[in-house]
Amino acid sequence: MNKVKNLTILGSTGSIGVSTLNVVARHVDRYRVIALTGQRQDEVLFEQCVRFKPRYAVLLDEAAAARLTTRLSHAGSATQVMQGAAALEFVAALPEVDTVMAAIVGAAGLNPTLAAARAGKKILLANKETLVMAGRIFMDAVQKSGATLLPIDSEHNAIFQALPNGYASADWPISGVSKILLTASGGPFRNTPLAQLQHVTPEQACAHPNWSMGRKISVDSATMMNKGLEVIEAHWLFNAPAEAIQVIVHPQSIIHSLVQYVDGSVLAQMGNPDMRTPIAHGLAYPERMTSGVAPLDLLKVAALNFEAPDFVRFPCLALAYQALRAGGTAPAILNAANEVAVAAFLERRISFLTIAKIIAEVLVRLPANTTLTLQDVLAADAAARDVAQNLISSEINNSELKNKAHIA
Ligand code: NAD
Ligand code: MG
Repeated sequence: MNKVKNLTILGSTGSIGVSTLNVVARHVDRYRVIALTGQRQDEVLFEQCVRFKPRYAVLLDEAAAARLTTRLSHAGSATQVMQGAAALEFVAALPEVDTVMAAIVGAAGLNPTLAAARAGKKILLANKETLVMAGRIFMDAVQKSGATLLPIDSEHNAIFQALPNGYASADWPISGVSKILLTASGGPFRNTPLAQLQHVTPEQACAHPNWSMGRKISVDSATMMNKGLEVIEAHWLFNAPAEAIQVIVHPQSIIHSLVQYVDGSVLAQMGNPDMRTPIAHGLAYPERMTSGVAPLDLLKVAALNFEAPDFVRFPCLALAYQALRAGGTAPAILNAANEVAVAAFLERRISFLTIAKIIAEVLVRLPANTTLTLQDVLAADAAARDVAQNLISSEINNSELKNKAHIA
C-alpha cells in the first residue's frame, strides 16, 4: 500500500468506532483521520480529536458540540467542530476522503452512509440498518457511483472472504455456490428457561457471552433480531434469496459464517471474536495487515458446536424472514419498530418478551408499500415508530404488564 488513505469514521465514539481507531493507531503510516463523529459523547470525541487530529469533528447534539468547541480551542486544536445531521453527510462525502467507516447505530446511519455511497467512497459497512431499511436504494447508489462496499459485520465479512473473488458483479446463484450459512451465537438467553425470559433485565440482555458491543445490538443479539437483520443484510450484499440463507447457532463464535458450494465444499472463516479482524480486513482490502487480535488457538477452543435456531424462543428471527419475504418497506417497518421497542426495553418501560410482540403488531398494522423510494422508506420508518410508541404507551397503561416489566 503506497498512498496514505484518508478516513472518515461515522460513529467513532461507539464500540465499532473505537475498535476502528484502535486498528488505525497501529498503522498511522497508512491512514489519516479526516473526520470523526458521535451523537453527544463530547468527552470521548475530545480525547479522540487530541490523539488523531482530524480536520472535522461532528456531534449531533448542539450543547455537546458547543462544549467540544470550547475544550478543543483551549487545547489549541485545529479541528473544526460541526453540528447536526447534515454535517454527518458532509463529512461522509468530502472529496479528500477515500474511505468511510459507517458505524452509526440504527436508522440514523442511513443518510450519511447513503451520502458516502453516492460520493463513490470505499465504504466499510457496519451499520446494517442501512441495508435493512433501504437495501435496493443503497445497492443501486453503490453501483451507480462505482463505490466499493466491504462488509464489516463479522458474519458478512466472513462470507465475503469465503466467496469466490468478484462475487459482487454476479447475480445469484453465484457460480458454484449453493448456500450461505450465517452463524449466530444464540446470545445470552440461548438456554434460559422460557418462563424466565419475561423477567430478564437490560443488564442481563447486554451481557453477551462472546462479543462486547453497543447496547442496541446487544439487545438485538439477545432477541436474535440481530441475526434477522443480518439475513436481510446478506440478501442485499450477496444477492441471495431468503431460501439460500440459513442461520446456524454456533455458541463459541469462532466460525464467523460459511459458504456451501455445489461440489460439497464448505468454506468457513474463523477467528477469535474481535471486531478488529473484519475492520482490519476492510481497511487493508485487498491487502492484509495486523489488527491486534490474538491468533486463534484451536487447541484451546477444542470444540465447535452447532444447533438449529429456536424460532419459538426467538420470534424476532421469524419476523425478519417474514419482512424480507414481504419486501418493499416491510424491512424498514420491522427495523423501526425494533429500534423503538429495544429503546423502551432499555429504559425498563416494557419487558423483554414485549419487544417481539410490538414488532409483530406493527407489521400487522402497517401494510408494506412495494413502490420503493427513499421517501417511502423514511415515511414507513416514521409511521412504524408512531405505531410502536402508541402500542408501548398502551402496554404501559396496562398495570399488569407494567409490573412484569419492572421485575428486576
Ligand atoms: P454503539 O452504540 O456503541 O455506537 C454507535 C455510534 O453511533 C456512536 O458513535 C454514537 O454516538 C453514534 N450515534 C448513535 N445515535 C446517533 C444519531 N442519532 N446520530 C448520529 N450518531 C449517532 O454501537 P456499535 O455497537 O458500535 O454499533 C454500530 C453499528 O455497527 C450498528 O449498526 C451495529 O449493528 C453494527 N455492528 C456492531 C458490531 C459490534 O460488535 N459492536 C458488530 C457488527 C455490526
Ligand atoms: Mg454480526
